[in-house]
Amino acid sequence: MIFFYFLFFITSCTAAANPLSIRVLLEKIPAPKAMHITLYAPDGFIIYTHTQKKPIREPHPFLGIECQNGIFLLHTKPSLSSKKKITKNNLVCRTKTVTIKPFSKTPLTINNKQYQGDCTIHIDDAYKAYYLINTLALEEYVYSVLICESYAHWPLEMQKIQAIATRTFAAHCMQEAKKNKKIYDIKNSIFHQRYDGTHQYSHLREAIEQTKNIIITHKNNIALTMFDACCGGIIPSKLSTIDFTKAPYLKRSYRCTFCKNFSLYRWDYSCSLKDLTLALSNSPHKSKILACGPLQNIRISDYDSAGSVHTLECKGKKKSMTLPSHSIKNCLQKGLKSKFFTIEQTKDIVTFKGKAFGHGLGLCQHGARAMINKKYDYKKILAFYFPGTKLSPLTTQLLKV
Ligand SMILES: [Zn+2]
Repeated sequence: MIFFYFLFFITSCTAAANPLSIRVLLEKIPAPKAMHITLYAPDGFIIYTHTQKKPIREPHPFLGIECQNGIFLLHTKPSLSSKKKITKNNLVCRTKTVTIKPFSKTPLTINNKQYQGDCTIHIDDAYKAYYLINTLALEEYVYSVLICESYAHWPLEMQKIQAIATRTFAAHCMQEAKKNKKIYDIKNSIFHQRYDGTHQYSHLREAIEQTKNIIITHKNNIALTMFDACCGGIIPSKLSTIDFTKAPYLKRSYRCTFCKNFSLYRWDYSCSLKDLTLALSNSPHKSKILACGPLQNIRISDYDSAGSVHTLECKGKKKSMTLPSHSIKNCLQKGLKSKFFTIEQTKDIVTFKGKAFGHGLGLCQHGARAMINKKYDYKKILAFYFPGTKLSPLTTQLLKV
């Protein structure tokens, strides 16, 4: 699932990567918090540092990385839990930034997870955070994402749809990163696309092969291929807070009802006012809720014709406050599956009656899955969810900014 993000980008400053490779942010660790990274490659490593012209060949299969005063220490200490100190015998190098590749063509194990490609560790200029970045071939990345964003048992046609949407979204992020001179292209979370390293579901390679290098374009630009689990039948063009001028193909003006048999097409969730007060007390709205006092009533104060709730009026014992719907959604994450809901209150129990699982824009995965049962092919399905787009090969020309 992709979090709706495209109006916001943070910037940074290093050279752009090979356009057919993608740089995935695995972790951003606030400095000076202690940092330990363990790498494993059966035949050892090739290490590129900023200080030495020639790469270092390290045959030891385990490599530990720690940071002291903004400098990374790479060592072959038996284990990070070992009481043995870093000495000149086990210290491989000191460096401010480092790229590490496995010596042979095996996946690289980073903190017990396997990744294709290599990893770069970098500290920002202000010494505020460490960045752990995995750089790998785009096609390998798409293969890896399939297992996180699709289901391994779904049919090939569905995997092809997801592969194209994932590749296109990644290419869009690569282009934005280039534009904003970021040190990575994409995050590994729902903020962008979930990615957890490589996997063993090799039958998914068929979908990568059959869609190799194909992306979705609109007027010769890489499309922003948003996707979520279930649109709940909402009509995206009725969403009033989205600026569709940047992505007119997301402004679908007709309903998808193919997902209607999915369990979260409609959902409801109940909680007591006491629990809601408690959830808000443990959130960034703590001071507001303390000023309001225990909640007595909650109602929707602003929504659009798509049914997306914008704000809620929360009446406390002492006073009332208005909260954006995403604040309530974040507090009740497991309960509220989307911002499309109505509220019913009986005494101190609040019931949210909702539809959709996600943001409702772009590809509806469960809808697409149902369309395959009705014999639609992947091209027709993508055209249904991204009207006005076409399929094109990804070229370096398209990635230009
Ligand atoms: Zn749908």
